[in-house]
Amino acid sequence: MTKILAITNQKGGVGKTTTAVNLAASLASLKCKVLLVDLDPQGNATMGCGINKRELKHSVYHVLLGLVGADAVLKYSPTGKFDVLPANRDLAGAEVELVDVDGRETRLKEALAGIGQGYDYVLIDCPPALNMLAVNALTAADAVIIPMQCEYYALEGVSDLVNTIKKIRANLNPHLEVEGLLRTMFDPRSTLAQQVSTQLKNHFTNKVYETVIPRNVRLAEAPSYGQPVLVYDAASKGAQAYIALAQEMLTRTKS
Ligand code: ADP
Ligand code: MG
Repeated sequence: MTKILAITNQKGGVGKTTTAVNLAASLASLKCKVLLVDLDPQGNATMGCGINKRELKHSVYHVLLGLVGADAVLKYSPTGKFDVLPANRDLAGAEVELVDVDGRETRLKEALAGIGQGYDYVLIDCPPALNMLAVNALTAADAVIIPMQCEYYALEGVSDLVNTIKKIRANLNPHLEVEGLLRTMFDPRSTLAQQVSTQLKNHFTNKVYETVIPRNVRLAEAPSYGQPVLVYDAASKGAQAYIALAQEMLTRTKS
């Protein structure tokens, strides 16, 4: 069974792309077959797994507009050992161009129906907005992973997102669930981080992953080499944390 997970939070800079690339590589290292879908026009996930976004003939943009089939756009990440539907700035045009298109919310879902079966996990790196691209991700997904920093306004942001998920469930995707909330760039010495973390657990209970991603400079450095942190520095705290997250996901799925 393929599990499609949208990695989403409308806030930028919370660790979505870092999580998408490194969770994909960690799951692949644990023998899962993984597809990473880059749904952000910035193409950071694409670059982060060693694929040059400037050299793409076709990207996920062409797939969403029905110009080419997804199988023709698939790339393999040599550093991450997983497949990628890459993106670049072309995708910025999709928002406007999809307006007049039939079934604009279900374009990604349909594309994945054509290629998704062979995978254990499809991870979708979402843009930092609740736009039509994000709607496509939430419509295609079985569940969402919400990376967040334990900061003062973080809980408000998450409740906005939960409301969006409820709307998507009512209109487009009745089975959409919250898979888990992931605390990123976590500093255990910060009192505020501890307080927000406690509130998060009170509110979302077992949806909060036990695994916490620490702030780790190796995670920030790895993308400039086109490598997941597992390749860049396997012994780093960041690499170990994402492996632990992948293991926690697999254990949860079994139980
Ligand atoms: P988003 O995709 O949500 O916008 P990113 O994953 O791009 O967020 O992360 C934002 C910035 O923070 C990037 O420069 C990234 O390298 C850095 N970063 C993300 N997670 C960590 C971490 N755990 N430790 C240190 N830096 C991080
Ligand atoms: Mg991003």
